[in-house]
Amino acid sequence: MAESMSRLKERLNDVSRLQQALAVLGWDQQVYMPPGGAESRAEQIGTLDRMAHEMLIADETGELIEAARSELNGSAPDSDEASLIRVVNRDYEQSKKIPAELVREMSQHAVLAQQAWVKARAENDFAAFAPYLSKTIDLSRRVADYLGYEGERYDALLDLFEPGMKTAHVAAIFADLKAELVPLVAAIAERADRVSDAVVHQSFDEAKQEEFGKAMAAAFGFDFTRGRLDRTVHPFATGFSRNDVRITTRYDPNFLNPSLFSTLHEAGHGMYEQGIGETLDGTMLGNGASLGVHESQSRLWENIVGRGRDTWQHFYPRLQETFPEQLGNVDLDTFYGAINRVHPSLIRVEADEVTYNLHIMLRFEMERELLDGKLAVEDAPEAWNEKMRAYLGITPPNDAEGVLQDVHWSGGMMGYFPTYSIGTILSAQLFDAAMRAHPNIPEEMRSGRFDTLHGWLVENVYRHGRKFEPNELITRATGEPLQSRSYVVYLKGKFGELYGLNS
Ligand code: ZN
Repeated sequence: MAESMSRLKERLNDVSRLQQALAVLGWDQQVYMPPGGAESRAEQIGTLDRMAHEMLIADETGELIEAARSELNGSAPDSDEASLIRVVNRDYEQSKKIPAELVREMSQHAVLAQQAWVKARAENDFAAFAPYLSKTIDLSRRVADYLGYEGERYDALLDLFEPGMKTAHVAAIFADLKAELVPLVAAIAERADRVSDAVVHQSFDEAKQEEFGKAMAAAFGFDFTRGRLDRTVHPFATGFSRNDVRITTRYDPNFLNPSLFSTLHEAGHGMYEQGIGETLDGTMLGNGASLGVHESQSRLWENIVGRGRDTWQHFYPRLQETFPEQLGNVDLDTFYGAINRVHPSLIRVEADEVTYNLHIMLRFEMERELLDGKLAVEDAPEAWNEKMRAYLGITPPNDAEGVLQDVHWSGGMMGYFPTYSIGTILSAQLFDAAMRAHPNIPEEMRSGRFDTLHGWLVENVYRHGRKFEPNELITRATGEPLQSRSYVVYLKGKFGELYGLNS
């Protein structure tokens, strides 16, 4: 191998190893660490984080990138080497653009704003949080201006989470989707009593819940010899390498859905990490392409597969055997309805498949307006409530359950929310493409086999890691950039049938 390229790789692999060690510390913090460990853990994480960052932005990295680029000699743009240089150069340039002083100010603000947010939410006092939100917006504007953008400021922020994705493209997709969703939600609301979720609100033994969730995740393709499942308050997935991927879930002894579908959601994230190509493992390309593409995999396995009728034709008799008292006399249709019930709710994280995206669009629209000054901070609570009424037909009784419900803005994260919907929309687009390639997928699912679908996703998405920007990856896999058509057809088909809207 050419000398500069090999020195660049060595250096970047050190950065990756530091990041992997940070992931171990973060996982332990949420899974096992006693409360007393918080302070020393924060220091350990701070030191390793600084080392990784300094190593990445050092002038030597920039010089090696330049030298390695000249050694490429026309190797294919999608080769591992050319991709590494392209992606790392982007990381390098981006982190160079934001002054260290601003980075410090942002992390300080995040700590203070989160404390203020916890208190403001508990006391239902938006006015106490408003100055912190103003500062978040101000800092976000400054970050965007340092990063630079061609269209609107929001592009620079979105680009941090979805490389190459443009606000105008996302806004157009969301507008199309919203025009379909709002009437769909209203039509379902009129027929709400057709579906009940009473049967999943019974007493379910936790150990049996765990065993069943693990069996389903394993059948989908999560490899427990290269991963494990633990318990946390907030479920998440993290990878230390493709051969050591950790997922977590939480259990409610009186409600089946939270543990089961959190397990399947995180297993989707985990399968993505486990499927990254061996040659990319441990390199700066050995992660998912973006937050949205990552979320497409959790949503695909949790919802399209995990809440799908085909899947449950195989698993439901097994679930009945596991919980004979609770489900022995409940038929598949009743259970299928219970895990798919649509119910407009105030809280995003509890939302069903149909209403979820409306929660995200509301935040996306508000973020854009706050950022360009069209919406004043003090008017945010009323703007929130108005959108909730218009999209979901409900009004939050207070700001704690309205504008104050999410942690993101207090953490300084603007531009993050759209990635949830991008992932959801993309899950249907990818599933469609897999079905075009392999029309026998539903038949396989009905017999509890998921290897053709899993294999298609490994081949077209997982193995590429971070080599391609989201829209290039999506186009390579499905033949076109992100679109909402597949998702609309999916939702109207599934929920139209469930609520009897199609006849
Ligand atoms: Zn997720």
